[in-house]
Amino acid sequence: MKQKLYFRNFTALIAMVAFLFIGAGMAFAKTEIIPGGPWLTDNQNENLNAFTSYEELVKALKKIEKSSKGLVELEVIGLTNQGRDIYLAKVGDPANTPVMFQTQQHGGEPMGTEAALKVIQFLSTGSAQARKILDELYVLIVVRVNPDGAELWQRWNDDPNAPDRQTSRGLYTSGGVGWDINRFHFADWTESLTYLAYLADPVTYPYPTNPVPEAQAVMDAFLAYEPIWMVDVHGQGTYVTDAGENVTSSMLWPTNEDVAPEDVELSQQLCVVMMDQMSQYGYATVNLYPGGSYTGIARNAYGLAGAGSVLVEIKGGIGQKSIGMLVKHTVEQMTSILEATADGSLFEADPARVDELDIGRSSYYKQLPPDHEEPE
Ligand SMILES: [Zn+2]
Repeated sequence: MKQKLYFRNFTALIAMVAFLFIGAGMAFAKTEIIPGGPWLTDNQNENLNAFTSYEELVKALKKIEKSSKGLVELEVIGLTNQGRDIYLAKVGDPANTPVMFQTQQHGGEPMGTEAALKVIQFLSTGSAQARKILDELYVLIVVRVNPDGAELWQRWNDDPNAPDRQTSRGLYTSGGVGWDINRFHFADWTESLTYLAYLADPVTYPYPTNPVPEAQAVMDAFLAYEPIWMVDVHGQGTYVTDAGENVTSSMLWPTNEDVAPEDVELSQQLCVVMMDQMSQYGYATVNLYPGGSYTGIARNAYGLAGAGSVLVEIKGGIGQKSIGMLVKHTVEQMTSILEATADGSLFEADPARVDELDIGRSSYYKQLPPDHEEPE
């Protein structure tokens, strides 16, 4: 009896200590978005030790696959110019409804990959919460589309033969450095501006096929598995709204005019679910991303290919202290659409509510970092 009482008091003590810790954590998080600061400077973003290296990533994925008892299967869907494998993690029963994420097309935007690892780990446990998702869905995640760019910590893939930038030919490049993977998603390469350039002048434009292996790998996987939606996770600088709040994440659906209305609608429903999830946090601000209609951008390309398609940009320009919080937010956003798709509530969401995202767009680039000339 005495022992039991002691145990009860001990449990209460633990709960109280945990409560105090959580309270302290929340207070800390809130101080991070006080208008006017404290904002972390750009060079604090460059402590790469905070992020998973390629070697660590492959090791982590293989470990999860091994311990998942067949729940997680890895597939190499492509090879980079530096010879790195591009991994697709496939979780659950292939007979279920397929959905797909891709992360880190731009090497210096690592948050989606860190979150994806946590999501795959969570799903692989076979917990009751994970099972609710995996009873309905086949979850596909291309983890780090651009491992070469990640190792080099650059936006581009790695290709010394990349031509000079010439957007009228669809050449979104940094000459001699690499290609912008997120301008080369084409279900049919012959519909690209670059292919037209090749037809007109094959010597100057020797691109009869897609010259960007990473983009082709993602598109091939998409066409092979036919997911009902594709969500593309990026990172952006630190932006503020008119009200002076730091933007936690921004999102946008396909804006190319040839995307079917039902695919735009599904994309907007995904945005609404993520927006509602984030509104639970008093210190998370989500808004609309001001993106263009170019067909080779993944957000448009996978909409054109017949899926719901969303771009999610996670806040960047960060120091180590806020990485954990941003990864947590990203995991929350990813998990929210998995759950809503599995329980069907996604399809009940009102797509018109994306209007609520349109906040502070006029001042969106107030904090534009100098090297962020080509967003998305
Ligand atoms: Zn990006």
